[in-house]
Amino acid sequence: TFRAMVIDQVDGKPKAGFRNLTMAELPDNDVLVKVEYSTLNYKDGLAISGRGRIARRFPMVAGADLAGTVVESRAPEWKAGDKVVVNGWGMSETEWGGYSGYQRVKAGWLTRLPDAFTLEQAMAIGTAGYTAALCVLALEDWGTIRKGEGEVLVTGAAGGVGSVAVALLASRGYPVTASTGRPDTHDYLKGLGATQFVDRATLAEKGGPLQKERWTGAVDSVGSTTLANVLAQTVYGGAVAACGLAGGFDLPGTVMPHILRGVTLIGVDSVMAPAAKRDRAWALLAESLDRDKLAAMTTVEPMDRLPELADAIMAGQTRGRVVIKIG
Ligand code: NAP
Repeated sequence: TFRAMVIDQVDGKPKAGFRNLTMAELPDNDVLVKVEYSTLNYKDGLAISGRGRIARRFPMVAGADLAGTVVESRAPEWKAGDKVVVNGWGMSETEWGGYSGYQRVKAGWLTRLPDAFTLEQAMAIGTAGYTAALCVLALEDWGTIRKGEGEVLVTGAAGGVGSVAVALLASRGYPVTASTGRPDTHDYLKGLGATQFVDRATLAEKGGPLQKERWTGAVDSVGSTTLANVLAQTVYGGAVAACGLAGGFDLPGTVMPHILRGVTLIGVDSVMAPAAKRDRAWALLAESLDRDKLAAMTTVEPMDRLPELADAIMAGQTRGRVVIKIG
């Protein structure tokens, strides 16, 4: 047997707990992976704490990410010994996830571990970091952010998505402004490459439909009033890559930035992103994510601590990324 964190439904509510599973209980998917690391993302916090309805069938093994080694495979493209990563694809929602000593996954979900990273580093990146890379790619593809000029804003900067976005944008030469509600993280964020700061409280207050143009682009993991203000402060023709809802899932804004300034809101989803997009994101991470910065934003924790770590991420107290060591 091996240990797993399982979400059950008790009195109509999701409830997380540890349980021993056997190989026979795992889903009948093609590739058996010995999981070495998983991570803690905001979504995992929602799932474990029961604050969000993430699991859509029960029992559900939690954990949106996993990294490990293939043990056996019925799919020709994977063989025992391959080092692999899975991000999303419904894990922890409709598919059993990464908080488990072993997992059986579909062949199409696996990403080969890039040579540039260890399994632990791949999980230090995790869904949050790979989503940050998707956001940076979206802004670069859009084409209005400029190396060495203008300002790119990152909201929720001291969180997981935010920390990786700051580090990636800075390494690629874009001047980065970080929005955080935690002034005590300023030195940390400077270390990742942020040069200017905005207090997140100023973005959380309702503002006008068109405000002073400040951002050539932005990565937003907060949503709600913050996103509405960021759009209203984006320069003519600029774009905002929105991926999160840490401040709320509403969007109380107007069409004005879009119809008078041609501002674009780019939606970014990591869970069902096609393999080609994932490969581009991992290539960007391999090329531009400074390994010392990655280490500076990462803490490694045992699976046992997941319940308290979930409460901390829900309370907005997690800095950077949390790797979960399995087993
Ligand atoms: P995280 O580490 O908790 O980061 C979220 C950050 O947002 C916090 O560190 C905090 O930053 C800020 N924040 C928290 N509560 C807030 C509030 N009430 N108002 C304003 N700001 C607040 O979480 P994460 O794993 O990076 O995920 C960030 C968001 O992106 C989540 O909403 C998550 O669901 C979403 N996400 C989406 C995808 C996708 O596929 N679309 C993928 C990954 C993540 P400061 O302390 O610096 O202010």
